[in-house]
Amino acid sequence: MPSPKTIGFIGLGTMGLPMARILRKKCVESHLYVYDINVKATEAFVAEEPGRVTACSNPRTVADKAEVVVSMVPAGPHVIDVYLNPDDGVLRANVDGKLLVDCSTIDVASFDQVRARVTESHPNTHFYDAPVSGGSLGAEAGTLTFMVGCSKGDPLWDDLHDLLKCMGTSIFACGGQSLGLTAKLCNNYCSGLIAIATAEAMNIGIRSGMDPTVLASIFATSTAQSRICDKWNPVPGICPEAPSSHDYRGGFKVELMKKDFGLAVDAAKQVGARLCLGDAGLKTYEEASEDPNCVGRDSRVVFRYIGGKEDWSNDSHK
Ligand code: NAD
Repeated sequence: MPSPKTIGFIGLGTMGLPMARILRKKCVESHLYVYDINVKATEAFVAEEPGRVTACSNPRTVADKAEVVVSMVPAGPHVIDVYLNPDDGVLRANVDGKLLVDCSTIDVASFDQVRARVTESHPNTHFYDAPVSGGSLGAEAGTLTFMVGCSKGDPLWDDLHDLLKCMGTSIFACGGQSLGLTAKLCNNYCSGLIAIATAEAMNIGIRSGMDPTVLASIFATSTAQSRICDKWNPVPGICPEAPSSHDYRGGFKVELMKKDFGLAVDAAKQVGARLCLGDAGLKTYEEASEDPNCVGRDSRVVFRYIGGKEDWSNDSHK
């Protein structure tokens, strides 16, 4: 489809701000209507290019003004507020025939609640889950992976694909409604466990006298290879760009991993999927989120949480 003339964006945080920026950059014909509960975030974004962006005072106004609405807020209760708030939620607007896309990582029950209300009150309105992977760097570069809750045969797939392609490079149709969220939770369950396993294995090696750069290079060409090991290694000084090499600042916050991991464990219970590592992984992220040395840091801070030697470069290796 040609770029919509008007696009709404709700939630201008770590992910939403760079996603809205890239929409503004790539959809040159479109005017953006934006809202964040934090007025300063909205004002700062509008000030970057006032002629192209209008600040709105609530989600209802965004949805009244825009043909397409994208939302990116922290969790289920925020999504419910954005769409279902009885005073100024999106569904209070004239949204007939419009496309609404929620990119937040939330529980399936909250998504289903909003979707049911959309269907009931606005049968011609289209609401999709399209969570992302790739972090703030991927959002800035426009290289996100989108996991969309629909099949490729969905009548709006081409429109969704064109819109999301402005912000990402890999756009997957996951098969049906809410399966985008399922894919995202499965991914984060797996990557959360890989981060813990890599941190633990590296810790064994360092404490046994190994140079962790050598160990990471061995993993890279052996069966312990992973993107976490190669690009996001939990041990400081292995990947110079990774948050671990910058006191675990930036990246994907440990609190968000706790949320996503917990949602994945809940999802497993609901479908009767047996987990051997779920309880241990969840406990690790819950405790790391409350550890004053880890709070607000990148989730790979689990290496610090388990007492990993961050100053390994001072050691003499065997
Ligand atoms: P964030 O906390 O940085 O930003 C969320 C933004 O939403 C904030 O600006 C906040 O003010 C705003 N907000 C909260 N409630 C709102 C409401 N009711 N109405 C309007 N705005 C509201 O979070 P984030 O890191 O941008 O994450 C957003 C979502 O993306 C989460 O679900 C997260 O799990 C997911 N995600 C994050 C990353 C990452 O690396 N940070 C990667 C992939 C997915």
